[in-house]
Amino acid sequence: MITAKDLQQLAENHGTPLFVIDHDELRSNYTTFKNHLPRVQAYYAVKANPDPAIIKTLFDVGASFDVSSMPEFMVVYENIKAMPEKERHEWIWDKIIYANPIKANETLVALDQYQPLVTFDNLDEIIKIRQFAPNSGVVLRLRVSDAGAMVELSSKFGAEPDEAVDMILAAEKAGLSVEGLSFHVGSQTTNFENYIQAINIAALIFRQAKERGYDKMNLLDIGGGFPAPYDASAKPFSELAKQINTELERLFPVDIKIIAEPGRFIVATAGTAVSKIIGKAVRHGKLCYYINDGVYSTFSGIIFDHCQYHFDSFKKGSTQICTVFGPTCDGLDVISKTEELPGNLERDDFLYSTNIGAYSGATATYFNGFAPAKVVHVNR
Ligand SMILES: *Cc1c(COP(=O)(O)O)cnc(C)c1O
Repeated sequence: MITAKDLQQLAENHGTPLFVIDHDELRSNYTTFKNHLPRVQAYYAVKANPDPAIIKTLFDVGASFDVSSMPEFMVVYENIKAMPEKERHEWIWDKIIYANPIKANETLVALDQYQPLVTFDNLDEIIKIRQFAPNSGVVLRLRVSDAGAMVELSSKFGAEPDEAVDMILAAEKAGLSVEGLSFHVGSQTTNFENYIQAINIAALIFRQAKERGYDKMNLLDIGGGFPAPYDASAKPFSELAKQINTELERLFPVDIKIIAEPGRFIVATAGTAVSKIIGKAVRHGKLCYYINDGVYSTFSGIIFDHCQYHFDSFKKGSTQICTVFGPTCDGLDVISKTEELPGNLERDDFLYSTNIGAYSGATATYFNGFAPAKVVHVNR
């Protein structure tokens, strides 16, 4: 475990802003996921944090990957390249699912040589895949409830469950091999009922497809959304896993392969941001700290991920409610208006934020001339 003392040392050695990735924590989260969901192969969702060192560490402990673009695909494929050429094609579905239901023609052309497993959720995509990536296996993405998730996805993707079998048969008629079904219940889902409902909907569609003569589906992809322990609103993962296991066992025979696409769950707690106070002011009676990282960089999840992060300081003192601002000249660059911090912090003191590994550095920009934080990997 990385201690506060380690973080301070790292910040002194490397400078700030710093984004520290704890690889022990990555491995531990992956193992927790496997242990609680023994039947489920984890395909880490690369978009949560695409750092190649993270991919490598997860690859080495046996993870598979969910990718959504050609660059993401290639970052993972770098690790597969070590395999003998002959085995690569047999391997690819076990290691990568291309889970973006909408793909550009040229992406499909680039993908086809790898005979990938890809998702789709509409008729036009079937035509595109048939034309540009005919060697793909396909998985139908369903629209399911994302009620209560921190980040919703169901208005953007997913075939309506009552159109699903028609879509499966249309894909088959077009000459594609439909391997199974997928869904995503929304990111940071604390409403576990979403998973239960979605698994039941998928089971119903498996049955209906069989009744209408299609019995080649052998894969269920239960997506991402597994909550990170940001605060008490996330009930224990063990509770969710128990419910999922029960439903899978009840509804899906053992010859159906079950996969999942956890992003946040694997990487959120593995990332810590360390920033430095660069200015201090009192405005309208409230203490304001200005730091050298903000919403255009490591804290971009505040905007894109609807996530709120908290700060700790190495220096202790009596606390008050403060505002913490990022370094840019933009009024949007507010990290928190309700942060409880010691009032005695000074310029050049450090602040740090834990649980910031997912959807953070991944969306950092160079806005206003401020470069993203330096990434340091702690891999002991
Ligand atoms: C973003 C995404 C994920 C990861 O979601 P988390 O909530 O981070 O687990 C998984 N699958 C797909 C298709 C995604 O788009």
